[in-house]
Formats: sequence, structure tokens, C-alpha cells
Amino acid sequence: MKPKKSLGQNFLNDDSILTKIVETGNIEINDIILEIGPGTGNLTKKILEKKPKVLIVVEKDKDLSFFLKKKFGEKIKVINNDILNCYNDFEFDKPIKVFGNLPYNVSTQILTSFIKIKNMCDKFQKFVFIFQKEVGDRILAHENSKNYGRLSIITSWKLNVRKVIDIDPKYFNPVPKVWSTLLSLTPKLDFEYIKNPENLEHITNIFFHQRRKMIRKPMKQLFNNFDEIANKMNIDLNLRPQNLSKKTYLEICKIYENLNK
Ligand code: SAM
Repeated sequence: MKPKKSLGQNFLNDDSILTKIVETGNIEINDIILEIGPGTGNLTKKILEKKPKVLIVVEKDKDLSFFLKKKFGEKIKVINNDILNCYNDFEFDKPIKVFGNLPYNVSTQILTSFIKIKNMCDKFQKFVFIFQKEVGDRILAHENSKNYGRLSIITSWKLNVRKVIDIDPKYFNPVPKVWSTLLSLTPKLDFEYIKNPENLEHITNIFFHQRRKMIRKPMKQLFNNFDEIANKMNIDLNLRPQNLSKKTYLEICKIYENLNK
């Protein structure tokens, strides 16, 4: 089958990397596993070797879904769908582990969709995802660095993130132009309560839209009494968006939500 560029089909074909991914997930016999974008089933096969209780795979490509059904038969449940249409459809009596060598064009959308699920922490135990390295760097970034931004703030709101390894393009087929990064993401049990995650997206969007400008402008855009709020929060309005901590953005979001009750 010819790989489809439009679906981000770069298949992993290195056994030691596939083993590393599965080890990162620490699969146990009773685990319920969801794999996103199984492709030709290289990772699927490795996951199955660990004998999880259930393995569901969601593959958008119809031809590959058919191929996977034939290849694995009853051992897995194949869902031929876009993960963005069904990420919140999985109900089990225990939290699920999610694996995916994600299609690059929708990887951040997939991640933020999971994060925005209200009871994400009850439903999911762990995410073991491969991202384009540049995206991985943005997820992992801390304040005062050039990669710090919306994705770092939104991810760290609900997830603890650990970088496992960077992956050389030569381990994929076809060979992509860029490096990848394997991340392990685990839900935080004590994350800050935010009424609506869209508000955090909205606020970080306003701040990082002009990341080189001083934060006076976005603060003014969000609040009539921006001076007073900045004073109370002890924020210097001459700082740049990248200088504010993740915690500060969550505080700003809460103030915004209380004003817009
Ligand atoms: N897991 C395989 C591997 O590592 O060899 C394939 C990974 S490949 C980078 C991404 C896979 O996701 C492809 O099989 C592609 O068809 C599938 N895919 C792309 N967009 C998708 C979507 N929105 N929902 C579900 N699967 C998708």
C-alpha cells in the first residue's frame, strides 16, 4: 500500500524504538489500550505481545482499517474513523492507556481534545505519543524560553510530561524531513479548576498572538481594570508573554472567568 501523505503516514519500522514505546506504556495484563493511527500495525503487534485485556485501534484510512482487520482478526477492535470524531467515546470501568505515533498535521489538535475532556483524569491513565520534535519542544517548554507558549501552558495544566527519547527520521518509512520525540504524559490529579478550557485557549491565544509585545496590550484587551488586576497579581505590565509562569496564566484565566460569570 502506498503511504498517504495527506494522512501523515510515516510508518515506524525499527524494532528497538517500537519496544521503547511499549515499555514506556508499562502495559499490564488487565490494561485497556487505545491506539491512535495504527497504520500497518507495527506498534499494534508490539502492544499485543504484552497481552492487554482490550486493544482498540482508531484508523482514519479505510484501506488500512480493512488490512488491520484481516491481519489481527479478533485480537483487536478496529474502528475506521477520525480520532477527532470519537476521542471521547470510550467508556470503561478503568482508566485507559492511549498510544499513538500521531499524524503530524493533527497531533496538537488530538492532544488538546483529550485535555479538554472534563473528566480526562478519571478516564485516561497515560498517553504515550510521538510528536514532531518541534511540537514536543513546545509541549515541554518552560517560561522564559523561545518555545514556551500556548501548548506548554495548556498541556501542563492537566498533564505531567516526560520526554523519553528523540527519534531519528531514518527509523520511519517514508523518511520524514524532521526528527520526532516520544513523550509520556500522565494526568495530574490536582490540576486547577477552570470552568471552561476554551477560556484558557482564548487567553493564551490573545497573549501569544504577539509574543514579542509587552503584556500591557493583551491585559487591556481582556480586562477594563487591567491596571488594578496587574497590581493585585503583582505582574509587571512591561513583561513579555513568555515571562509569565504557567501558574500565572491559570490565575488570569480564573479572574477572567469570574468577571464573565
Ligand atoms: N502507528 C503506525 C506506525 O507507527 O507505523 C502509523 C503512524 S502514522 C505517523 C499515522 C497514522 O494515523 C496513519 O496510519 C494514518 O492513516 C492515521 N491517521 C491520520 N489521521 C488520522 C485521524 N484523524 N484519526 C485516526 N487516524 C489517523
